Amino acid sequence: MREAAAGLWRLLLPVRCPACGAVAESLLCRPCAVGLERYALPDLGLTMLAEGVVTVGAYAYEGTVAETVRGLKVAGRWAAARGLGLQLRRRLGLPPEDAVPVTWVPATRRRRRRRGMDLPELLAGPRAVRLLEATAERPDQTSLRPADRRTSPGGAFVARGPVPPAVVLIDDVRTTGATATAAALALRAGGARRVLVATFAVGGDAARETAAQDSRVRPASTSNSAGTSSGSGTW
Ligand SMILES: [Zn+2]
Repeated sequence: MREAAAGLWRLLLPVRCPACGAVAESLLCRPCAVGLERYALPDLGLTMLAEGVVTVGAYAYEGTVAETVRGLKVAGRWAAARGLGLQLRRRLGLPPEDAVPVTWVPATRRRRRRRGMDLPELLAGPRAVRLLEATAERPDQTSLRPADRRTSPGGAFVARGPVPPAVVLIDDVRTTGATATAAALALRAGGARRVLVATFAVGGDAARETAAQDSRVRPASTSNSAGTSSGSGTW
């Protein structure tokens, strides 16, 4: 409660673009919004992580995208998170929440307290339901502190109760996929048969593979093909 109250004064401050800090109407400022689109993943980085677990992502974790994710975690620049969550839903063509429940990869209570917010939760939106509990901290993709490297690679998660048969699981960044897989398998253990992991950004090898595939698939400059890519759809 004290923490919530202490953060209230921020409501009085102008909304800042999370990527560059400029005052913005909503979401990102115009140049950063344009910059973000340069990193959109054409095939959504579709990857199968485990049996019944498929992941997609909206952007490569580079440039403006990385600045946006880092900026969203800075106090006072969270305003865009909900809007970017909506943008993520639209871009990935996610099913409506009343058809397939949405949840998120949670931070541990300790980290959430320290940070005052949980970015995946904000991206997941107000209709998301908390289905997972984090039992061990996962390394922060945007931090290089040695303390983070000592934790288990994906963190550890447990379902809070029975899980519906199909779930959309929202996360902010996927690099190795270890965290997403750990969280998705906890949902599977709780009863889910299919989990779609939807991340805002895809970093590291995962993004490079996607980009390489794309340059092979697309003829040259113009492409009007939409959603014709890889994945076998067996999840
Ligand atoms: Zn900006």
